Amino acid sequence: MRKELNQMVGTIPEVADAAALKETFWLNGKQQAGGEKTIKEVSREQVKDASDRLLRFAPYLKMAFPELEETDGIIESRLCEINGMKEWLNREYHAGIKGRLLLKRDSDLPVSGSVKARGGIYEVLKYAEELALEAGMLRETDDYSILMRPEFLEFYSRHTIQVGSTGNLGMSIGIMSAKLGFHVIVHMSADAKQWKKDLLRSRGVEVIEYADDYCMAVEQGRKNSDADPMSYFVDDENSKNLFLGYSVAGERLQAQLKEQKIAVDEEHPLFVYIPCGIGGAPGGITYGLKQIFGDHVHCFFTEPVQACCMMLGMATGLHDGVSVSDFDIDGRTDADGLAVGRPSAFVGRIMEPVLGGIATIRDGRLYDLMRGLLAEEDIFIEPSSCAGFGALICPDDLAEYAKKWGLTDRMEQASHIVWATGGCMVPEETRETYLKTGLSE
Ligand SMILES: *Cc1c(COP(=O)(O)O)cnc(C)c1O
Repeated sequence: MRKELNQMVGTIPEVADAAALKETFWLNGKQQAGGEKTIKEVSREQVKDASDRLLRFAPYLKMAFPELEETDGIIESRLCEINGMKEWLNREYHAGIKGRLLLKRDSDLPVSGSVKARGGIYEVLKYAEELALEAGMLRETDDYSILMRPEFLEFYSRHTIQVGSTGNLGMSIGIMSAKLGFHVIVHMSADAKQWKKDLLRSRGVEVIEYADDYCMAVEQGRKNSDADPMSYFVDDENSKNLFLGYSVAGERLQAQLKEQKIAVDEEHPLFVYIPCGIGGAPGGITYGLKQIFGDHVHCFFTEPVQACCMMLGMATGLHDGVSVSDFDIDGRTDADGLAVGRPSAFVGRIMEPVLGGIATIRDGRLYDLMRGLLAEEDIFIEPSSCAGFGALICPDDLAEYAKKWGLTDRMEQASHIVWATGGCMVPEETRETYLKTGLSE
């Protein structure tokens, strides 16, 4: 281990725990009241721009994907109260949850079945729009359903989109790009599940497999793409577009909370728990929520013990300057959607003034939480997706946080949202295997 890192293991207890592969909870000491106002890298206007773009594409999406008929081409998921799960967590995990517990069901997002249907699809649409506008084939005021026409399919087939993925990002980029007519290449890391590769190939996506981890798949994808002037690379390590696509979730959730008459204000704090891989999805969602609810929303990430890159990056302040392997952590986790060894190059820095904290969770617990949710609520979500519960089952740490922000006497009126990030496309036999996993431990 590098000398500076060794010192940090000695002085930051959460980093020491992480390096020892223990579950831990890091509270972010750099969080500030009104912290979102200090963020310069992205802006409220950019979120609005992303939201408007998704509206322009809605007529096209509605025609291209029959499952979007109902929502008029808007890709969105439900927000449901999960009282049975709340009682189960309080009983089995002594979570001591007061207030309301809800599940944001991005695990059921149409088109690609995970949270990546927000950022991933958004970035493909943005690029497709840019190309068509430049070519003079499209105006922003057009009805975008014209993108279904053969001349667009032909136009996009001359362009390539590439991406590195542990699975779900490849699914969303692959499905969307192929639908528009692009040649699309997905570079899959060793963690990616076979059924995801099979599904993509069945949709005409070129899948290249690597025996290495996610960083290698990204590196190869980037190299491949840079060598081809007609190729565009979706860069999960650096992409502001992905981030902005995710951030639109903020205004969507605001509308759902309003519809369900759930207050978020001084007296009614909102806690949100999101699984974290490279950071784009949870970071974008947090940014979107912070822009709307400011100090009334409190966001936490959870990572697998074996892939706690965002926690290491933020707790050491070194961000993408560290990877889990620097701490002799091997990065292998069943939570394929979160199997990332090095955090995003920019998300951790944006999160510094706004994030509440980061918890880590063992793989075995993910399966237990998955079975609990299925038994109590009849909702299936994939193992990665269960990580959201990880921060919620740490009552002592959350109590410390509540005390620090003067929320202790308001916790009865709080709402807690666990962000379920994937699951509806998992094939039946894989579900069966998941449900039996780790039972003998
Ligand atoms: C990708 C993914 C995440 C986290 O998103 P990042 O942008 O990698 O942080 C969480 N859950 C699932 C199921 C995912 O596929």
